[in-house]
Amino acid sequence: VTIPTLRLNNGVEIPQLGFGTYKLPPAQTRDLVLRAFDAGYRHVDTAQMYRNEREVGQAVSAGGLPRSEVFVTTKLNNAFHAHDDALAAFDRSLDALGTDYVDLFLIHWPVPALGLYPQAWAALEEILASGRARAIGVSNFQPAHLDRILKTGTVVPAVNQVEVHPYLRQDEVRAYGAAHGIVTEAWSPLGRGTVLGDPVIAGVAARHGVTPAQAVLRWHVQRGDVVFPKSATPERIVENADIFGFTLDDADVAAIDALDRDGRTGSHPDTEN
Ligand code: NAD
Repeated sequence: VTIPTLRLNNGVEIPQLGFGTYKLPPAQTRDLVLRAFDAGYRHVDTAQMYRNEREVGQAVSAGGLPRSEVFVTTKLNNAFHAHDDALAAFDRSLDALGTDYVDLFLIHWPVPALGLYPQAWAALEEILASGRARAIGVSNFQPAHLDRILKTGTVVPAVNQVEVHPYLRQDEVRAYGAAHGIVTEAWSPLGRGTVLGDPVIAGVAARHGVTPAQAVLRWHVQRGDVVFPKSATPERIVENADIFGFTLDDADVAAIDALDRDGRTGSHPDTEN
């Protein structure tokens, strides 16, 4: 498979499909990331919170691909928003990953109760300037949080990684991103599996001779978002990357769009801490 790339607002290219690593069994993470590379993935999404940066880094070195051909994202954990803590936490990530730069570094959650995310953003801007992150962005930011860093900061986030799937379309956050040149990354693109039994999705999948997971991932890609489904099953890792050989038509897209509801599976950004 050849995976298309999107161009971020600073010119960096990001593969539109990546491999999610949240809750992968740590003992299997290295091998599963290597399987993903074999299946054609060139983008891995990890985080300090996932406690698997070391295993992800081991796969990146063991995979034998030139470092420049692999796109690695990690995220700042919530306890480290204070400026100096953020810099130190980033150093620990580079050490764990065994690399001298990451492709993308994100603030994982805004944690508005703490109120330190503008400070964390200033630290990420310094990291970007040092060349140790090729791009910086945020995750789980609502428009109000984005407004705040656009005011206090100097760099526009390259991405906002938020929960998006057919049961949570996130039109408002995505429109804000589109208006400001911020790419939306859809986390839990399969709704952690909750959307896969939906009869509408089954119908779209059957019409194209693909699986429900492939139909849903294709819907995301056609909306222009970045996705990184997670699976610990080798066959599904291959299946989830095989989404570039068919196209949903307008009726398929409209049918999936109509499934939107209050289907959040994760924490709400206003309250997560
Ligand atoms: P997901 O939507 O990718 O769903 C994963 C689950 O779907 C799997 O555990 C499996 O049960 C099922 N599945 C996967 N492929 C399948 C297939 N082909 N057929 C049938 N079932 C299949 O959920 P996720 O792991 O929560 O999200 C993906 C990634 O997004 C994470 O691994 C992580 O990298 C990122 N993420 C980020 C945040 C954040 O706050 N920034 C939060 C959650 C997840």
